[in-house]
Amino acid sequence: TELTSLILDRIRDVPDYPQPGVLFKDITPLLADPVALSAVVDELARLAAEVDKVVGIEARGFILAAPVAYRAGAGFVPVRKKGKLPAETFAASYDLEYGSATVEVHRDAFAPGDRVIIVDDVLATGGTARATVELVKRAGAEVVGVAVLMELAFLKGRDRLEDVDLRSLVIV
Ligand code: 5GP
Repeated sequence: TELTSLILDRIRDVPDYPQPGVLFKDITPLLADPVALSAVVDELARLAAEVDKVVGIEARGFILAAPVAYRAGAGFVPVRKKGKLPAETFAASYDLEYGSATVEVHRDAFAPGDRVIIVDDVLATGGTARATVELVKRAGAEVVGVAVLMELAFLKGRDRLEDVDLRSLVIV
């Protein structure tokens, strides 16, 4: 579709970032294009219709999730790397290729039963999204879906989110 090429034409492949052998999908050209940015935000906001809160995953998820929340008339909730949120948090850890990572959300971020959509830029192995789903549930909200700009199918992140309504604007 038109949206697909609008996105694909504005995502830059950067070899060997952040480590040798990784082909990083750089979304900054897309963010810099007003037509592509508004089309992406509008499409994600369509998926966020009728939710109470949009959760953004640090850091690139924030860039998309905040305008999506505004457009959808929802609130915004940040999920951050360990140690960044000031008040009481729930934490969830997940394995990386080397070591592990922890994400957190404020314990009082949601009203009981809030309907929530989780937004991020890229779904790779799915570890970050999986941990975020668990955090949101633990904080008392209902995960209506996960929406990403781009899904890297070869990393099979979708397999870790089988119980979730996962929407990807483009799958590569
Ligand atoms: P996962 O946990 O699914 O392996 O990795 C997803 C997280 O890492 C997302 O928060 C995403 O921002 C980041 N990420 C992993 N690979 C890429 C990539 O190639 N490009 C971008 N922009 N982010 C990536």
